Amino acid sequence: MHFVGVDRCVIALSRVANGWTAGLPSGNLEVMTDFSMALNEDQLTLQKWVHGFAEDVVRPAGEEWDEKEEFPYPIVEQAKEIGLYGWEFMAEAMFNDPTGLSMPIAIEELFWGDAGIGMAIMGSGLAAAGIASSATPEQMMEWVPQCYENADNGKLALGAFCASEPDAGSDVGGYRTSAVYDEKNDEWVLNGTKAWITNGGISDIHVVVAVVDPELGSKGHASFVVPPNTKGLSQGQKYKKHGIRASHTAEVVLEDCRVPGRCLLGGKEKLDERIARVKRGEKGNAQAAMQTFEATRPAVGAQALGVARAALEYSIEYAKERHAFGKPIIMNQSIAFMLADMATEVEACRGMIYRAAWLGKNGSFQNAEGSMAKLKAGRTATWVTERAIQILGGYGYTREYPVERWHRDAKIHDIFEGTEQIQQLVISRAISGLRIV
Ligand SMILES: Cc1cc2nc3c(=O)[nH]c(=O)nc-3n(C[C@H](O)[C@H](O)[C@H](O)COP(=O)(O)OP(=O)(O)OC[C@H]3O[C@@H](n4cnc5c(N)ncnc54)[C@H](O)[C@@H]3O)c2cc1C
Repeated sequence: MHFVGVDRCVIALSRVANGWTAGLPSGNLEVMTDFSMALNEDQLTLQKWVHGFAEDVVRPAGEEWDEKEEFPYPIVEQAKEIGLYGWEFMAEAMFNDPTGLSMPIAIEELFWGDAGIGMAIMGSGLAAAGIASSATPEQMMEWVPQCYENADNGKLALGAFCASEPDAGSDVGGYRTSAVYDEKNDEWVLNGTKAWITNGGISDIHVVVAVVDPELGSKGHASFVVPPNTKGLSQGQKYKKHGIRASHTAEVVLEDCRVPGRCLLGGKEKLDERIARVKRGEKGNAQAAMQTFEATRPAVGAQALGVARAALEYSIEYAKERHAFGKPIIMNQSIAFMLADMATEVEACRGMIYRAAWLGKNGSFQNAEGSMAKLKAGRTATWVTERAIQILGGYGYTREYPVERWHRDAKIHDIFEGTEQIQQLVISRAISGLRIV
């Protein structure tokens, strides 16, 4: 079953291309809705559909691809066949639901199946969001679909968002990758190394954040699309990771990598205007960029939520079946109360994620609620999966049972897309109005 219709998606993407950015309306809102935790019929159908795929295809494959530490192409192909992997799905889930809940709902179910495979399916979305946040309408329509499907033969394609560098992850002002304009040929020349890039080097589309004016720190950055098969882009080391091992993470090396002028997202005129504004000491678009990050963080929280819920459900069933001292271990308050705390944390996370997702869509963050939701969900997933190992005892510590894998998978949510401490920094600034350092 396909969940989405292509026509609706084209409308959604062109609506984004004509003024919406990564879930945030930059112009007037066409549709606003009240916040509710009650899912509507479309959302329940979506939840059931993704859950079915997660249960039948993703969960059974989790262990195999974790052990292989390879990108699970056959599973992503299946996701593409049913319409779960594709720009149409992303456009529909992100932009055709005024509540903002569709994306977190889908992601929770997928990551309930397996976080490594979930990341392999969702990773191209980082590139699509990177394009959506600063592209012109024409660029959006050209490049976003190519993050999912080869324009010529319709085959599976991947996208990568390349921002972090070996010496600068949280500290975005420390990026060194340079972009120099070659006016004669109307080309940009990219040089540098990007680190820990999801789908790095194996992607068709790489979106690269580079420094165009080193004097301006993070305000002197611009984003570029590196089209398929561009010379000068190569994969560096592939990382051997603690968790989400089915997701490919690698360095991306740019050596005199030339891209046409039209690959500068947003266009040269807009970039020149922005740089001139910053040089005159006027405010740039930093505020808009921060709002965009806030809007995408609930989706990352939903990944962690899926992992936490998987571990909670598994632990409850195990605790009912495992006997010690002549009774099921769940009959001990210490185990039952641990499960009660785990369930409470999972519910708290979902509430925060849904509300933040709604705020992201309806444009009214007050206190960095997107960061709060992501912070809470990452910590919860790490804690709940650790408790799950405790409940399973010796078995929990072995690879025979999935909870040790889920614990390894959970930890990434305290690190990527802004570490725990960076979320705290954003929240503390929002609640205090002070520039905490
Ligand atoms: C599996 C994986 C996938 C990833 N995918 C991508 C991707 O697709 N694209 C991409 O661009 N990046 C990606 N990243 C990079 C990720 O976003 C960074 O690792 C992350 O932002 C942290 O940066 P860092 O590793 O340089 O840590 P650092 O910034 O060096 O931080 C180290 C420690 O210091 C703390 N710290 C740093 N600054 C402060 C401060 N001001 N106040 C308090 N504490 C601070 C941090 O919280 C952390 O605990 C990925 C990383 C991993 C592991």
